[in-house]
Amino acid sequence: MDKKWKVIALWVLPITIVILITWQILGSATNNQVNQTASSSASRTAPVGKISYGRFLDYVESGRVTSVDIYEGGRNAIVESVDPEIDNRVQRLRVDLPGLAPELISSLKEEGISFDIHPPKTAPAGIGILGNLLFPLILIGGLILLSRRSNSMPGGPGQAMQFGKTKARFAMEAQTGVKFDDVAGVNEAKQDLEEVVTFLKQPERFTSVGAQIPRGVLLVGPPGTGKTLLAKAIAGEAGVPFFSLSGSEFVEMFVGVGASRVRDLFKRAKENSPCLIFIDEIDAVGRQRGAGIGGGNDEREQTLNQLLTEMDGFEGNSGIIIIAATNRPDVLDSALMRPGRFDRQVTVDAPDISGRLSILKVHSRNKKLEKDLTLESIARRTPGFTGADLANLLNEAAILTARRRKNKIGLSEIDDAVDRIIAGMEGTPLVDGRSKRLIAYHEVGHALIGSLVKDHDPVQKVTVIPRGQAQGLTWFSPDDDQTLISRAQLKARIMGALGGRAAEDIIFGREEVTTGAGGDVQMVASMARQMVTRFGMSSLGPVSLEGDSQEVFVGRSLMNTSDISEEISKQIDEQVRSIVKKCYDETLELVAKNRSAMDKLVEILIEKETMDGDEFCKILSNYTDIPEKDRFIPVLPDPEK
Ligand code: ADP
Ligand code: ZN
Repeated sequence: MDKKWKVIALWVLPITIVILITWQILGSATNNQVNQTASSSASRTAPVGKISYGRFLDYVESGRVTSVDIYEGGRNAIVESVDPEIDNRVQRLRVDLPGLAPELISSLKEEGISFDIHPPKTAPAGIGILGNLLFPLILIGGLILLSRRSNSMPGGPGQAMQFGKTKARFAMEAQTGVKFDDVAGVNEAKQDLEEVVTFLKQPERFTSVGAQIPRGVLLVGPPGTGKTLLAKAIAGEAGVPFFSLSGSEFVEMFVGVGASRVRDLFKRAKENSPCLIFIDEIDAVGRQRGAGIGGGNDEREQTLNQLLTEMDGFEGNSGIIIIAATNRPDVLDSALMRPGRFDRQVTVDAPDISGRLSILKVHSRNKKLEKDLTLESIARRTPGFTGADLANLLNEAAILTARRRKNKIGLSEIDDAVDRIIAGMEGTPLVDGRSKRLIAYHEVGHALIGSLVKDHDPVQKVTVIPRGQAQGLTWFSPDDDQTLISRAQLKARIMGALGGRAAEDIIFGREEVTTGAGGDVQMVASMARQMVTRFGMSSLGPVSLEGDSQEVFVGRSLMNTSDISEEISKQIDEQVRSIVKKCYDETLELVAKNRSAMDKLVEILIEKETMDGDEFCKILSNYTDIPEKDRFIPVLPDPEK
């Protein structure tokens, strides 16, 4: 057993590094972006972000995972999960697996999660060409990165060193070289953190008046919003060494290794004080103790205890500041938050439109853009994108530009890169035939409902060219930075998502409907359920009927489900069903009423394969009235400033 894990540890770490680099270049989409931008109720909701194995296990345990597709003999998987935080949108996430573990399979079975194991396959022609082109780029990128790190002498700028007897993989950078100017669009967080720089630089200023310098700051926010970058910038501004390690790595560790790693880390840090310690994904170790069923927790608890001991152990004002990052402050052990530990919290959210604009400014510094392509227009097309997505977007666009042998990035490259980041790579179009026709009706169904229901986001684009896992896609443009969603909007989204199935149903008949709507109906179910249980939007009234489902651990939620009686849960089911039924009936009616418009639209879509929203509406308006949509147009700061 031990040997097996050793092998895994030896393999997984290097592979993860390469995949991480690859991922940064190739493009990851984060939760947020998945949720906001890709309201494409495609036959399967598309975007792919990345999560750690540890987090994946958490998701499985907490019932968020709906399906798992395992690839490459169990080396990685695409996970579909719902995000209860953001109206239960379906998100698609990639995870690296430590092989096809029988335990994993049995826990998937136990949780009733549908999964599939795909044999390795050769890439289809379209992807093949692109893949071949991208592959050298990725490898070269990776090599440059690695060699830059290993060549530099310890103490030199920009270098990272690995330490540890126990393969302790915390990294140390003597100088991060990152400054606050490199982090954009998160001004509030920056302001909050400026003080930390002063703590590190001039502790006397505080100690002389008897002030206790805080030890820990918790950065809270979704992945890719720049938490790591901020921590590095603090170290960079203060000119102190930067130590970092990631909580998720402990999950696969031998018992005892985590704790000794933490000990090592603090020992090194003390030798190098003043300095900054950064712990990424602290929730992987810092979850509530004593929660959860089954093994694997000993290690986490030992690690957490060690961390707490170390934090308490160093004398105040020892010049070490610990910054931790998490997306799940709610699951953290409260002991972590006590005074003298992580008693400060700073929120780092996905940027709004002006934030996106300033992030784009930072990342376009070394890129050549065509004159008519403004950063403002890019910021407008990317609601929900995080800093990492935006960096990735510009990079993808640059790659596309090089591939097309152009010397400046243009609007079409940006467009294509946005699509790829949100929905994955474009596949080869189907040949004309029954399948393509069915997909076209399905997508036109989504787009039709999206256009005809007033509270639905307007259609941006419909396509029958496969992308990522989806056979066809309908993109909607969400209102920029919308934060509250009304009941009417939720209903509209449910109807929009049902539009595809309704079209199949009416055109091809009930017996001919396909599995293509699987993702749609899943999304519908979770939206409807949340309307009832979470937002109090059903005739059960404005009550929360979630039990304590904020808690994500199997252990605790098992204890708490008794909050909801069988009677209530029956009523909830009834309400959910009635919402969905009502929406579906209305959807069917709309589809039936607009049959001839659909036939025409499908004919055009099959021929052109992609149609943009304006064109779609123009044709549709020949047949019926299209309601005007309320849109919020954000004002941007003067670009000259
Ligand atoms: P997190 O730690 O929150 O997951 P990172 O700090 O690792 O996010 O961000 C990854 C990359 O994305 C950064 O290296 C940077 O290139 C880019 N990025 C993210 N947020 C910002 C931002 N606010 N300003 C500039 N670049 C950003
Ligand atoms: Zn669909």
